[in-house]
Order: sequence, then C-alpha cells, then structure tokens
Amino acid sequence: MISDSQVQFYDHELRALKHPWISKVKKWLEYDCIVVRSNDRAQCLPLLGYNTRTYEIVRGANFTWACNCQGFGKRANCSHVEALKLKLKFMAVPGAAQKEMF
Ligand SMILES: [Zn+2]
Repeated sequence: MISDSQVQFYDHELRALKHPWISKVKKWLEYDCIVVRSNDRAQCLPLLGYNTRTYEIVRGANFTWACNCQGFGKRANCSHVEALKLKLKFMAVPGAAQKEMF
C-alpha cells in the first residue's frame, strides 16, 4: 500500500522539486558555499541574503554523505550533498572549470 507521504515524495522528485534543486546546486557551487573540511566532512556555508544556516555534511561508515538539513531528513538526499559530490568530482579533475558543468 502506498501512503500519502510516498505519493508526495514522488510528486516532488519528478515535478515540483526537480528544477529548483538543480538551480540550488548551481548556486552553492557558483558562490563557493561548499567547503571541504576533511575526507569525511564538509560544510555548506550560508549565502548572504538567501539563507543563514551552515549545513554540516558528513560521510558515514558506508561512504554515503549525509546532511543535517530538513530536506535530507525527508528524502535522504539534498542540494547540499549533490553540490558537494559535484565539487569533489571537479577537485579530482585538475584544471576543470566549474562553469563547464552546467
Ligand atoms: Zn542538505
């Protein structure tokens, strides 16, 4: 049986949230909000005039990233984690410009 929350989840993922998510990911990277602190810890710094919280992103024992934002609590994924993954990908490729990503 499908519960209401599951139906909402799919709605968000496939329609409403799909685009805003990408633009958020782009924003975190554009303004350099993602800061890698160590191999298993990073932060998404607040963007002036947009939000005020610093989000903590940590890597768990199974090597998957987890964020302490509300969205991650609901969907087990969020724009902060997606932005971090992209940033790490680019850090691994010397000379790659972030702007070429989108
Ligand atoms: Zn997050």
